[in-house]
Amino acid sequence: MSTSPLLSEAMDYPGNLYVIAAPSGAGKSSLVKALLELDARLMVSISHTTRPPRGQEQNGREYWFISPAEFQAMVDRGDFFEWAEVHGNRYGTSRGAIEKRLKAGEDVVLEIDYQGALQIKQLFRLAVLIFILPPSWEELRQRLCRRGEDAPEVIEQRMVNARHEVDQARHFDYIVVNALFETALFDLKTIVHAQRLKYASQRRSRPAVFDALQLS
Ligand code: 5GP
Repeated sequence: MSTSPLLSEAMDYPGNLYVIAAPSGAGKSSLVKALLELDARLMVSISHTTRPPRGQEQNGREYWFISPAEFQAMVDRGDFFEWAEVHGNRYGTSRGAIEKRLKAGEDVVLEIDYQGALQIKQLFRLAVLIFILPPSWEELRQRLCRRGEDAPEVIEQRMVNARHEVDQARHFDYIVVNALFETALFDLKTIVHAQRLKYASQRRSRPAVFDALQLS
């Protein structure tokens, strides 16, 4: 895992950076998809990965699918904002994917694993870290089984990994419990909205009001 030290500059970017992590089966992808559909100001960053495409996945839509050698070259060049190995494959967020947007004042969502999220928090203290929890271990197991994507031994491995991942939730800024999808989505929207109401965000998005009130 490595990151570029230059990224500490990112602290002053005007856009908001939301980082969302969860164990496999907690419902992260569906929640992020619904959040993006509701909020046109949010952009999701497309990660690079060494894992092969699954099903209908397309290069440049779900991920940029690259070879391990290409990934290593990007690591060596310092192209990644963060990267991590997850379930035997490497995943990374390229600086190019989000720096331009944050500089332009756009809000960016990263849907990444907890290792990447914690790397980002160290470099970019203003990043908003959100962890999605399942309501119980039983429910997580049932969701993984219902997905029908994995063999029983893979599900057991995901459950073992999930215990370690959930243990990292304490390091995140916000916790969303995905017991009921609509409630969890409402919670996510609330977090995004609250971030935009912070002084610095309001100062940027409502300059006329602040100027009229002679607020610096
Ligand atoms: P999947 O292969 O199922 O799409 O993703 C496996 C895990 O890798 C998920 O937890 C996903 O959020 C995470 N992931 C996807 N992109 C990135 C990334 O750019 N960086 C990190 N650290 N994790 C990622």
